[in-house]
Amino acid sequence: MVLDSIDVVVIGAGAAGITAARQAAECGKRVLVIEKRSHIGGHCYDRLDENGIYIHQYGPHIFHTKNRRVWDFLSRFTEWHYYQHRVLGLIDGRLVPIPFNLHSLEALFPKSRQAGLERKLIDTFGFGSRVPIRTLKASDDDELKELSEFIYEKVFLHYTAKQWGVDPEAVDPSVSDRVPVVLSRDDRYFADPFQGIPRAGYTAMFSAMADHPSIHLLLQCDGRDLIRLEAGTIFLEGRPFSGEVIYTGPVDELFASCEGPLPYRSLDIRFEAMDVDRYQEAAVVNYPNNYDFTRITEFKQFQLSPPLGRSVVCREYPCGYEKGRNNPYYVIKNGDTEALFGRYKALADGYSNLHLLGRLAEYRYYDMDKVMESALGLVSSLFMR
Ligand code: FAD
Ligand code: UDP
Repeated sequence: MVLDSIDVVVIGAGAAGITAARQAAECGKRVLVIEKRSHIGGHCYDRLDENGIYIHQYGPHIFHTKNRRVWDFLSRFTEWHYYQHRVLGLIDGRLVPIPFNLHSLEALFPKSRQAGLERKLIDTFGFGSRVPIRTLKASDDDELKELSEFIYEKVFLHYTAKQWGVDPEAVDPSVSDRVPVVLSRDDRYFADPFQGIPRAGYTAMFSAMADHPSIHLLLQCDGRDLIRLEAGTIFLEGRPFSGEVIYTGPVDELFASCEGPLPYRSLDIRFEAMDVDRYQEAAVVNYPNNYDFTRITEFKQFQLSPPLGRSVVCREYPCGYEKGRNNPYYVIKNGDTEALFGRYKALADGYSNLHLLGRLAEYRYYDMDKVMESALGLVSSLFMR
């Protein structure tokens, strides 16, 4: 593909970039995707290891969404293992369902107290509701308040401190809202109607999406080496480019951190292979109150008919982000970072054909489906008017 004929440049071949590229190609546009790593998929990248187990290189990924458009779009490129994610947490020496639900209550409280608490919870919030821990903590009923303090202390306090490396009070409350207290016996981690794991892996799904005659993929190339931003004009290989540029990397890096670096939280993900059929009771076990890691994932439990005799797990040790040394896994949401992001967004808005997309470029704690929804929305707004 010659650069002259390109309509859209996408920087980054993760969930955001590949979804946008495919949608743009289907709108008749010629798309160049530039990825600095040697593989596509971004943080959703997985690979089949020598044991026949799909390893999620950048931490466990389970697809879930309420959005039928996103689900139908992806279903064109993969068959699904209709996996429903269940997580256990080690609390007071017992493995109980996380999010904390009525089964967790049963496991941790004597029958005499559990029945009364259950009734009160349901009378107050309604059966089946998903109550953020901060809402439960704000209850003015003494018994519910005491229960909320117990759940906060056992499930959230120490996990959040480990994960974010700060006083949990300093973490934006929307972060723990992701894992509400569930007033039912539904042990699933997500309540979304569409859930699953691509049968042949995420990387294969993204490869199928990128497989289009109008998509040209350039790996191991930093997009910032090909484009230059100057006084409202984007230059591609030194010449003004009037097509659209969709950038999905860290937004501060695009502007050489001129306003100061945006902070990210990272993980040291340590893998261990072993000669066992099954290592633990659920695909993911959380350790809110023990160890320096937050959770252990056993990958074969995400798979249909996994091989016998071997298993691979990973432990996630949260740590600070250091550019070039580890990955910007999580954005850190607070008033200061929102203001800083706003300054980068204003710089980006100075280029009418530059679009920030995805978890790092939009600086949002986005799950995969939200990134894809955003990508489909952006491309529709650009080319389907
Ligand atoms: P990324 O995946 O970060 O992709 C950005 C791409 O851009 C990367 O490939 C990067 O190499 C490339 N890039 C950056 N800068 C440049 C440049 N200058 N030039 C060229 N290329 C560049 N979501 C879920 O829905 N379910 C889950 O279970 C889930 N689990 C998660 C677990 C962990 C540990 C983490 C960290 C995230 C999880 N997520 C999950 C979120 C999910 O990973 C993200 O929503 C998704 O990967 C974001 O895609 P993206 O394309 O925006 O960003
Ligand atoms: N969380 C917690 N205890 C848990 C699980 C989650 O305190 O057992 C909190 C913690 O602050 C975490 C947030 O809820 O960062 C979001 O959890 P989620 O599982 O969504 O995190 P992710 O999978 O994105 O790492």
